[in-house]
Amino acid sequence: MILDCAIIGGGPAGLTAGLYASRGGLQNVTMFEKGMPGGQITQSSEIENYPGFFDHTKSGMDFMDTWQKQCFHFGMKHQMEEVTSVYKVGDNFQIALAGKEPVEAKTVIVCTGSTPKRAGFKGEDEFFGKGVSTCATCDGFFYKNREVVVLGGGDTALEEAFYLSNICSKVYIVHRKDTFRAAPSTVERVQKKDNIEIITNAVINEVVGDNMGVNGVYLGINDGSTRKLDLTGLFVFVGHNVNNMVLKSNNGEFICDVNENGQVIANLRMHTSLEGLFVAGDIRIDAPKQVVCAAGDGAVSALEVISYLQERS
Ligand code: FAD
Ligand code: NAP
Repeated sequence: MILDCAIIGGGPAGLTAGLYASRGGLQNVTMFEKGMPGGQITQSSEIENYPGFFDHTKSGMDFMDTWQKQCFHFGMKHQMEEVTSVYKVGDNFQIALAGKEPVEAKTVIVCTGSTPKRAGFKGEDEFFGKGVSTCATCDGFFYKNREVVVLGGGDTALEEAFYLSNICSKVYIVHRKDTFRAAPSTVERVQKKDNIEIITNAVINEVVGDNMGVNGVYLGINDGSTRKLDLTGLFVFVGHNVNNMVLKSNNGEFICDVNENGQVIANLRMHTSLEGLFVAGDIRIDAPKQVVCAAGDGAVSALEVISYLQERS
C-alpha cells in the first residue's frame, strides 16, 4: 500500500498535520514517531502560553495527551518507528525505517523538530525542567521579580536575556569568551540594560539544588577564581541542533535545500525545494520555536498536501 502522506515526527507539528490530513479526507496517513508522541513540550512541567489552555495543574505531557487521541479518532495511523532516511523514487518517496522494510508514500511532511543543545556542566541534566530551562518564553514568568542566569553569547542568549530582564529582577549573562557572536546592536542593547550583569570569560561549573529545584550556580572564571550565585533559575542558550538527519542522503547531501544551520528552507506554504516534500515546526527556517507556531505549520502543511494530491491526480 502506498501512503497518501507520511508524517515524520509526532510533536505538535506532526500531530496537527496528522489531524488536518486525516480529517481532510486523505485515506492513508501514517505518523512515524520514534518515541511517545508529544514532542519536546512533554518535558515541560507547565504550559501557559497556548491560547485557550490555562490550567496550572497540567504538565506538558497532560497537555499533549488528547492531541494524539484526536488524530486517531479521524483515522490517522501511528507507527512507533524511527525513520532513518527519506528519498524520492520517481514521483513517490521511500521512508526507510530502522530495522524494517521501507514504506512508500506519495507525500512526506517532516516534523522532526529540534533539540536544544546542552552545555555539559555538572547538574544540568539532573535539574533540567526543575530550574534549568532552554525556553525563556515558556519559563521566564516563573522567575518574575527573581534573579536568573543566562548561559551563552549568541543572538539567542542575548535576546532571551533581554526578554527575561523585563520580567526578572536581575539577569546574569555568563559567557565563556569576552567577545560575543550576537549582533553588535544586540550586545549594545543588553549592555545598556540596568538589571543585566554580564560575566565574561566564565563557565558554569555546577548547578546545585534540592528536591524543590535549583538553588545555586557555581561559576569558574578564567583567572582561576570562582563565584557562587544564589538563585533558582538558569537558562541555557548554547545553540540548537535541528533534527534533519532523515533528509541526508547516503552521499552526505540533503535531499532539499537547507541553510547554513541545517534548517530546512521552506516557503510560507511549507513547501521545500523538493516537490511533494513538506516541513513543519522547529525544523524549518525562521521557526519561532513555540507549540502554537508548530501546530500552525502542521495545519498549513497538511492542507498543502491535500491540494498537491488533488492536482496530481
Ligand atoms: P518537536 O516537539 O521537537 O517534536 C519532534 C518529534 O519528532 C519528537 O517527538 C521526536 O521524537 C520525533 N522525531 C525526531 N526524529 C525522528 C525520527 N528520525 N523518526 C521518528 N521520529 C522522530 N513552546 C511553547 O510554545 N510553550 C512552552 O511553554 C514551551 N515550553 C518548552 C519547554 C521545554 C522544556 C522545551 C524543550 C521546549 C518548550 N517549548 C515551548 C518549545 C516547543 O516545545 C517546541 O517549539 C515544539 O515542541 C516544536 O514542535 P515540533 O513538532 O516542531 O517538534
Ligand atoms: P550560536 O550562535 O551557536 O551561539 C551559541 C553560544 O553558546 C555561543 O556564544 C557559544 O560560545 C556558546 N556555547 C556553545 N556551547 C557552549 C558550552 N558548552 N558552554 C558554554 N557556552 C557554549 O547559537 P544561537 O544563539 O542559538 O544562534 C543560532 C543561529 O541563529 C545563529 O546563526 C544566530 O545568528 C541565529 N539567530 C539569529 C537571531 C536574529 O537574527 N535575531 C536570533 C537568534 C538566533 P562561543 O561564542 O564561545 O562559541
